[in-house]
Amino acid sequence: MFNKAKRIQALPPYLFAEIDRKKRAALAKGVDLIDLGIGDPDIPTPGRIIERLTETVTKPANHRYPSSSGMMEFRQAVADWYDRRFGVTLDPATEVCSLIGSKEGVANMAVAYVDPGDVVLVPTPGYPVYEIGTNFNGGEVFFMPLRRENGFLPDLSAIPADVLGRAKMMWLNYPNNPTGAVTDESFLKEAVDFARRHKIVLCHDAAYTELGFDGYRAPSILQVDGAKEVAIELHSLSKTFNMTGWRIAMAVGCPELVATLAQVKSNVDSGVFQPVQEAAILALEHAEEFLGPIREVYQERRDTLLDGLHQAGFELPAPRATFYVWLPVPGGWSSADFTARLLDEAGIVTTPGNGFGEPGEGFIRMTLCSPADRLKEAVQRLQQISL
Ligand SMILES: *Cc1c(COP(=O)(O)O)cnc(C)c1O
Repeated sequence: MFNKAKRIQALPPYLFAEIDRKKRAALAKGVDLIDLGIGDPDIPTPGRIIERLTETVTKPANHRYPSSSGMMEFRQAVADWYDRRFGVTLDPATEVCSLIGSKEGVANMAVAYVDPGDVVLVPTPGYPVYEIGTNFNGGEVFFMPLRRENGFLPDLSAIPADVLGRAKMMWLNYPNNPTGAVTDESFLKEAVDFARRHKIVLCHDAAYTELGFDGYRAPSILQVDGAKEVAIELHSLSKTFNMTGWRIAMAVGCPELVATLAQVKSNVDSGVFQPVQEAAILALEHAEEFLGPIREVYQERRDTLLDGLHQAGFELPAPRATFYVWLPVPGGWSSADFTARLLDEAGIVTTPGNGFGEPGEGFIRMTLCSPADRLKEAVQRLQQISL
């Protein structure tokens, strides 16, 4: 009866519809599916964080509208954590803003800065919202391919001059979803210098900095000198503290960018329920106590899956961070066909790499969001199918 807005009509078809259909069919047949498709922690939120929510939920002051930029106590806790964790100083009043999950921040950064005709530089394969946010606001996406031979880092020198002339914003995401790649301060410095030179809003999606293994600790882009002139970093409690359902994250960095994002938000949302912010304060204050055991769980799972994959004949390095394993597809199979085979022959659900962008063809993504015994079972089944 009603025509959808053109921006909605232009949305790509849901890429995982076919997999979802097959998954439902297998479940209906009683197949014991192992789901390595979802990127959502299966481990519950630590008990003390939940308790802080239940203690604060009864306070009448917490029943009123929160500030869309966040309680000052939350912003202070974010600043204190950045100082302890990264050695980065933030002014909670001007350089920190709460988010209803970092997904919201990704989408609203485009509302804040993208006009029709503007170009946004987007890594591919990548988190889909960078592209969709751009398109919703009439911007044009220029894809920066992340290739294995380049360590899954974009080649900034390959961006054509005419594109650069119209480039308004760039997205980066390290540790990376879906490739599991990490970067170091030298690439982040190159990106900051590039953004300053070309007057580009530099957005760093840092959702996975805390899930590092073997002692690896990922950097913040704000550790780079001059980053605060051009860069905003989105961070989230979702993946870090098993809090995806709580919807709390933060944008930090360049005060001008934080202020514009906050201006958008004050017009479209009314912030994060305060008890959730109070629980997040406790999480950040005791971050390392909560994170030690969480990292151990993922590291053990990573080792289980990688050992099994290596025994099954796959060649790939162990990811140093994130809960993703980016597996090169063997034997010339396409990502879609190999995903279908794993489902049909082994009852294992994975995500085809090209679903995250064309350069992801030839890879599949597996997640570590299942218990180690299920991962063990998955690799046993994998060893039985002929590659
Ligand atoms: C999960 C994820 C997000 C969104 O996280 P929320 O804070 O829960 O909205 C953003 N970016 C990347 C790369 C992610 O993987």
